This record gives sequence, C-alpha cells and structure tokens, in this order.
Amino acid sequence: MSEKETGRRDDLFYQQKNGYDCIDLDERLKLEAYCDGYKAYLDASRTEREAVREAIRQAEERGFVPYRRGMALEPGTKVYKDIRGKALILAVLGQETLEQGANIAAAHVDAPRLDLKQLPLYEDSELCYFKTHYYGGIKKYQWLAIPLELHGVVTKKDGETIDLVIGQDPEDPKFVITDLLPHLGKDQMAKTAAEVIPGEGLNLLIGSVPYADEGADRVKLAVMSLLNDRYGITEEDFLSAELEAVPSFPTSDIGLDRSLIGGYGHDDRVCAWAELAAIYQVDTPRRTAVCILTDKEEVGSMGVSGMQSQAFESFMADLCEAQDVRLRDCFANSFCVSADVCNGFDPNFPEVSEKRNGAKLNYGMGICKFTGSRGKSGSNDASAEVVGTLRRIFADNKVVWQMAELGKVDQGGGGTVALFMANRDIDTIDAGVPVLSMHAPYEIVSKFDCYMTYKGMLSFYKDR
Ligand code: MN
Ligand code: MN
Repeated sequence: MSEKETGRRDDLFYQQKNGYDCIDLDERLKLEAYCDGYKAYLDASRTEREAVREAIRQAEERGFVPYRRGMALEPGTKVYKDIRGKALILAVLGQETLEQGANIAAAHVDAPRLDLKQLPLYEDSELCYFKTHYYGGIKKYQWLAIPLELHGVVTKKDGETIDLVIGQDPEDPKFVITDLLPHLGKDQMAKTAAEVIPGEGLNLLIGSVPYADEGADRVKLAVMSLLNDRYGITEEDFLSAELEAVPSFPTSDIGLDRSLIGGYGHDDRVCAWAELAAIYQVDTPRRTAVCILTDKEEVGSMGVSGMQSQAFESFMADLCEAQDVRLRDCFANSFCVSADVCNGFDPNFPEVSEKRNGAKLNYGMGICKFTGSRGKSGSNDASAEVVGTLRRIFADNKVVWQMAELGKVDQGGGGTVALFMANRDIDTIDAGVPVLSMHAPYEIVSKFDCYMTYKGMLSFYKDR
C-alpha cells in the first residue's frame, strides 16, 4: 500500500488506541497516585452514608463550608449541602452568575446490598440469623458463602441515632449466608440461576451459642444480649434501624501488572470519587461547578435523598436567589454529566456486547449517549450537540475517552439519573468508568479508565 493511501486512512477513519499507548511515564505516575486516593475513599465508603460522611470530611479540609441561607456567595466560595446524611451536593461558585448555568456532575453513592428487615432477628435449629431484603439489582447466588459486614444506624425510641459497624476491622467477626454443599446439590443445580436461592433464603448467620438459661430461643437471647451490651439496643430498636450487609472485601489491585482495581461498590463510587477529586481542584471556575453524590439510584432515584427529590432544586434555588437569578434560567443554561459506570466488554461473555460500540477496558472514560432498553425505551439519549460539547472539551484537554453502549440491542438494558436531570431542562449525558462484573459483590475497573474519568470531570468543570 502506498504512503498516500495510509495517510488517507489516517485522515478519514476513526481509530481508537489502547490508553497506555496515549500517555507518558509522568501521567502513569499521576494515574497511580489518583487511584491510591480512590482506593482509600472506597474502603472508607461501604454505604451511602459513609460515602457522604467521608466526602464531607475531605471537603471541609479543603475549605468547603455548609451552605447557610443568607451567606455571602462570592466567586470561588465553596459550599456543600448535606441531604439527610445520605446524599451530598458541593458547589464552587463561578465568576459568571448562575444565569449562565452551572456545570453539574451527578454520581450515586448507593450500591447493591442486603438490607436487614425491620424484624430481622430469629433462631432456627439453635442457630441465629438476620433476615434480609436485597436492595438494587443483584444476582442473589453471588451473595452466598462470602464474608459480609454490617454497617448502618439504629434510631432509638428516645430519638438518639447510633452507628453500628461490625466486620470492617480485621479483628471483627464477619457474617455469612450459607450455600448448599455440591454433594446434595442435585436439585439446586437443576434450577435457573434466578431460582438457586430465593429472596427469603438470604438469611445471615450471626451466632450459635445458647444463653445459659432454660427458656426458648436461647441463641437469639445470647445474640441480643451481646448487642445490648455493646450498643444498648433491644429487639424493638430494629424497627427503626437501617442496617446494610455488604461484602467484606478490602479494595485490592488486580493482575500481575496491578492495572485493575477489585472492590465492592465501584458502581458508582468510582465516579463519585472522580467528581470529588476534580471539584477539589477547582478554585474559581468560569461557571459554577456542582458535584452531586446522590442516593437511591439503584432503586429508581426515588425518595428524599434520590435524584428525583426536590432537595436538588432547593439548594440550586437558594444559590440562584442569592444572585437574583431564576432557577429555570440557570437550569436551561446548565450542563450535566451523569457520572455513572458503563459495562466494559468482557471477553468471557462476548455474546452480550456489540464489539464496535461497547466500551473496552483501558480505552478511557466511557460516554453513553443513551441507556434504556429495547428501542432506547426509558433513555435520556443526549443530542449530537451535547456529545459534541464533551468531545471538544476532551480533545482540548487530552482526555482519552470512548463511546459506550449498554450491551447488544435487545439484550437487556438499564438506566441512570440522566433522565431526571434532563427532565429539569438541563442538557445531560452519561459518562463514566467501564466496569467488569458490575453489581457483583466484587467489581473490577481499570486504573487508566478511573484516571481518565477524573481528568474528564476536571476538564468539564474548567472548560465548559
Ligand atoms: Mn450506577
Ligand atoms: Mn448500578
């Protein structure tokens, strides 16, 4: 082939490169440092409450203060709004007024898990258990025979709310849901994966030693005594508790080259961290930068701390009113990156992806123009102009990115908070980190993609 033909090909064809062919040693070092910060954040954030608490702790160290109505809002002012301890909005005021719109990034910090039921405690055959109700889209069989921790809060009758964390400290005991031995698994193995373990079978083993008396439920009594000694609670206190069983897996590097990260809850704390790390770097942006860590995405973004809640409008309206700007004008000129993970192409399961349009590990931040299912049903489907805006910003800032699609047409589907932002008259697009084993107790991401998602967020905050 002639030199002329090669040049023509380079000019006309879209060619993607492996991310590691696009960065130098200096950037590789930055990538590692960035991922060290992420791993620490993920380990500190087993639940949405912990993810919010840790973000507030860090933000305050960096000069963010709780928003108070009437406070002075100058360009560069850094404020945050804690939404009932389960969601968080941070903002850095821009040089321009909010009439020019804000640059908004929205990630979620809830993750699939097993919530304890409101009357969870029972004894069966002299073993003690907690009954659970799963939260979010899980493959139930993946939660058997793995170590689990308990995290959450108990609100007592007098109104006091206490934190309860058992299993995170290496010295702590863990909990587990048992599975059937293969020797007796003939009937179980013939079931479909959805039926292997019924929802009511997700019962957490929590004790086996009986209380030294003569009555009924002696193991349950012994367990309740331990909880009472340590936390001062009685069985009735579970009625007003939110306790979550989550995988007890520390975040780890994966692979001989340590290029991947394994952990629980990458979806979507990996994007939450990208937003946080980016907004920490923003001092006085042109447009106001807004970082949202929302809750309840995995169950439809409902609830007071979900993205459909008016809590977001209230906060933004407060900022707008301080500048004598109408909220609807602010929204109409705003742009939102719905920062959520996408599925990475998995060579073990090639049949569900369309190779030309699926996101690949190490190819950078994944932009998802649309999500939904079947004929894009339930999708935000960002416009060409919206995609073009990010394309320009990322090209100017050497952000390695790729188009992503949630599997083959008619293979399945899913959604994010994007449509709820777009419903507010805000231009919105999904973008985030490709994940393997999404929604499993242990998910995998590539360090390169994590870093590029951060770089994408930072360039968005600075350059739109
Ligand atoms: Mn997600
Ligand atoms: Mn999810």
